[in-house]
Amino acid sequence: MFVEYITLDHTRPCLAEPGKIIVVGTPSRPIDAVLPLLNAMLPNVISYNPRASALVLRRKPGFLTLLADRIYITQVKDADEGVELLSATRDLLNQTWEQRETITPRNEERRTPRPLDVWELLPRTNCRACGEATCMAFAFALLQARRKLDECVPLMQPDTAEPRETLRGLLGNLEPVTSVWHKSE
Ligand code: SF4
Repeated sequence: MFVEYITLDHTRPCLAEPGKIIVVGTPSRPIDAVLPLLNAMLPNVISYNPRASALVLRRKPGFLTLLADRIYITQVKDADEGVELLSATRDLLNQTWEQRETITPRNEERRTPRPLDVWELLPRTNCRACGEATCMAFAFALLQARRKLDECVPLMQPDTAEPRETLRGLLGNLEPVTSVWHKSE
């Protein structure tokens, strides 16, 4: 077995949908070796960044973000559903790893986020602190690399670590990297 378990590390309120949560899981071992296989196999990959070992999948609703040592799932109903989703993710990782001899890994970067994908992960308060009139305008500006993620001040707060990391995965090298990201949050 490649990954024995994924523990539910903690949950946070989900920005994208009030009343729902973000689930943060920690795999029993690093999973970066599986990511190029998933990138080759799955139809719902919207971003893969091999340098950061970050794969983002669209789920309905929300996102599943796989990092080497962390897993984020947005728009989850409750902790019970989170545990089920983490268990299903573990099964996906293990089944994919078992089939590795039959899969040609896809190692190149991939990025197909839509403005709506980016907007869903922003605070969506239209506070204008970034200089744009709306969060949707900021989402377009991010995709066009006219803006940097750290210009959204509310997104830089400690309690928005998960959507921020998912956005970093989605935007890849479109987003000029700055030093405000605190990986240990
Ligand atoms: S600063 Fe962030 S929350 Fe405020 S309008 Fe800009 S993108 Fe939206």
